[in-house]
Amino acid sequence: MQIIPVNEPLVLAKELEYVTEAVKSGWISSEGKFIKEFENKFAKYIGRKHGIAVNNGTNALILALRSLSLPPNSEVIIPSFTIMSCVLACTDNHLIPVFVDAENDTWNIDTKKIEEKITENTKVIMPVHIYGHPVDMDEILKIAKKYNLYIIEDFAEAIGSEYKNEKCGNFGDISCTSFYANKVITTGEGGMCLTNNDELEKKIRSLRNLAFIPEKRYVHYELGFNFRITNVQAAIGLAQTERIEEHVKKKILTGKRYTELLKPLEKKDLVTLPVQKEYAKNTYWMYGIVLNEKHGRKAQDVMKQLGDIGIQTRAFFYPMHMQPVIETFPWFKNEKLPVSEKISEYGFYLPSGLTITDDQITAIVKCLENILN
Ligand SMILES: *Cc1c(COP(=O)(O)O)cnc(C)c1O
Repeated sequence: MQIIPVNEPLVLAKELEYVTEAVKSGWISSEGKFIKEFENKFAKYIGRKHGIAVNNGTNALILALRSLSLPPNSEVIIPSFTIMSCVLACTDNHLIPVFVDAENDTWNIDTKKIEEKITENTKVIMPVHIYGHPVDMDEILKIAKKYNLYIIEDFAEAIGSEYKNEKCGNFGDISCTSFYANKVITTGEGGMCLTNNDELEKKIRSLRNLAFIPEKRYVHYELGFNFRITNVQAAIGLAQTERIEEHVKKKILTGKRYTELLKPLEKKDLVTLPVQKEYAKNTYWMYGIVLNEKHGRKAQDVMKQLGDIGIQTRAFFYPMHMQPVIETFPWFKNEKLPVSEKISEYGFYLPSGLTITDDQITAIVKCLENILN
């Protein structure tokens, strides 16, 4: 049986060439020319003034929140339907995540449900563009302005996506992304903070590197981290960034092809497919579908059947407000966030890697049809 993986990174000769150069140069740690080149090239692609590369996307979020120097127990608005990294960014900084339910169609944070969660302790909103579809950023910007909140944008799943012709990663005070192997471009492990603010850039650079200060090494005014990326990883990242437009194109092509082929299943009311709102350029980082609950098939059940014939899939996120570890915190609230709960139970994503072929997509859709019909 031929296995179709849920994801596979695309790593080519250019990566090998740059990695070889990095290794031969002897600069294999966190100094070396590829780091700056990668930061500059990626920041330029997004449209931000500064890029600060780090060793993973989770740490990019932790670093971004730390750089704001917020009082302990300040509240951060995040979607419940997201990855644990967003919670860790709060808890590792002694901040409290406040969960907001998802929209039924984009699966992003429901901007209409944010204001009811704002208190005098709210300091930050963290929009997360889920599976490649941008959050309705005008609404986020409006709320942030009204309540004087910082915005930390998590665009790990939306590299190349656009909101009203502006690339994701350009919104708010700091944006963060990941270069994990399943992201649109990869460094193996890696991430980046981006900002237009010179003060924040300086602060993030310092915090990334144990909060050394240039004026007097080994004297520390702040507690930092070692979140440095290596020159070898950045060499891969630079080669990937040089091909970024092609990666984005391939993702969009894959997404549109799935939608075209799966339309009949949606017309029969068996599944809900990803949308593209009028304000959005969706890059379909992962092609997610949600089964119609009326038919009584849960995601796990259909995923098992697909897995048995060699088609790998991945479950949707498990909502943050339901995480067992969250119950241990004093601020835990026993909430019901029905949309997040529903899509988590009925949603999963199909193979969406950069190496997928049209034949594979066609075969996957056929199998899914057989299972659901
Ligand atoms: C992948 C991802 C991260 C975390 O990135 P890592 O590099 O795996 O730490 C953060 N946020 C979102 C939305 C992600 O998809």
